[in-house]
Amino acid sequence: MDLLITGAMVVTCDDARRVLDNASVAISGERIAAVGDAAGLEREFPRHPRMDGRGLAVLPGLVNAHTHTVLTALRGTVEDFDGDIIYRYMSPVSYTMSDHERGVMAALGCLEAIRSGATTLVEPFRHLPSFAGAMADTGLRLWLSESCADIDTRKIRFGDYSIDEAFGRVFLERTEALVEAWHGARDGRVKCQIAAHAPDNCSPAMLHRLSEMARRHGLTRTCHLAQSPGELAAVKAAHGLTPAAYLDREGFLGPDLTCAHWTFCTPDDIALLAARGVNMAHTPANSSRKGPHGVLAGLIQDAGINIALGTDNMTEDMFQAMKIGMILHRGGLGRARPGGVDPQPQAVLDMATRNGARTLGAEAEIGSIEPGKKADLTMIDLDQPAMRPLLRPVSNIVHYGHPGIVHSVMVDGSFVMRERKVLTIDEPALLAEAQAVTERVWRRMLADNPDLTPPPDTEARLGTRGAA
Ligand SMILES: [Zn+2]
Repeated sequence: MDLLITGAMVVTCDDARRVLDNASVAISGERIAAVGDAAGLEREFPRHPRMDGRGLAVLPGLVNAHTHTVLTALRGTVEDFDGDIIYRYMSPVSYTMSDHERGVMAALGCLEAIRSGATTLVEPFRHLPSFAGAMADTGLRLWLSESCADIDTRKIRFGDYSIDEAFGRVFLERTEALVEAWHGARDGRVKCQIAAHAPDNCSPAMLHRLSEMARRHGLTRTCHLAQSPGELAAVKAAHGLTPAAYLDREGFLGPDLTCAHWTFCTPDDIALLAARGVNMAHTPANSSRKGPHGVLAGLIQDAGINIALGTDNMTEDMFQAMKIGMILHRGGLGRARPGGVDPQPQAVLDMATRNGARTLGAEAEIGSIEPGKKADLTMIDLDQPAMRPLLRPVSNIVHYGHPGIVHSVMVDGSFVMRERKVLTIDEPALLAEAQAVTERVWRRMLADNPDLTPPPDTEARLGTRGAA
């Protein structure tokens, strides 16, 4: 759309990290046409419809560099379980769900993402073709990938790590189908990546096929890395290496790869990943739920690695990711040089915007407010208690921001939320259906997998057997 947002504060995240007061942003079609002085742009764009931006901060749309929207089905349950939840719950639940049910929960994740100021989601998951449409319909910018494995993730919780070529072939076929149907779809708003699920469930042959596929299609790649003690033990047993060293041995590391988590990476792993130019999708809020998060954040930062922020599971709240990420980095496990209050808020906001764009090879298109870039914008209501008093806006936003301050969200020059009304989703209907789907899916998952226990205190809601 054509629009002139007038008299706003503009947090550009450009190379100079300019924050402009009483500025305007001109949008022509799906791109930013101009940014600057309000009076000048009023004259330059006389026919553009106006939006009064007074009291608003306009930010580049937040980029969630790693999430799994379907796993909203597990919200409020497995966060409080001890031990492995990846293979005990997250894998079974995705197989338990129908295509429609995945679509409902993915849409719920997208709704929360929009309300949390995200404009881009990076989603690696299983069965992506079954819910890509539900995500695309929400108007968000997407990078989608089928999370491939050739070791059956439903059997790993029973200690079975055998390679299953037929199982792996299904993922490779789904990846090809996803790329064919969705890469460049919706006027280029939806793109694809190539994803290995994790080092402990991908054989060398699978990693090689995925690298070949990425080269053939010219796509960036993603993978989980060193996210659990179980993964470390399995990779050590199979290959005698750390997960990072295993991926390197198979030629999988490179600047087109973004790895999520790095929770149990050693200093040697970090040096290796830095040397290969690998990007990090840091998911501090999710990773910290299981207790103190031991990621060597300071060391990773000091190694000059491109760090993007993601929410990972059961939440799409990028404000929470920024806040907890800031605290975690300042906690500074593994920092090579003495403390100090570091990173500063702008560096954390960079992680949630321009660094995320860089992991996707999309830094020329998104991640900052500059003429010629896509009009992906998050508008924040500064007249909120958490935002006042206001002297250093980026500090306010990173330390105290929350989804409640998000006023409007635009993707590709179209509003997906305007003045707090989400325009692309029937919100009450979706919330009701997501509740029904979640209850149904939990009941089905527990019935199909007798070794799994229901979350405590949910028998009345789920009508399940009591906890074992
Ligand atoms: Zn993940």
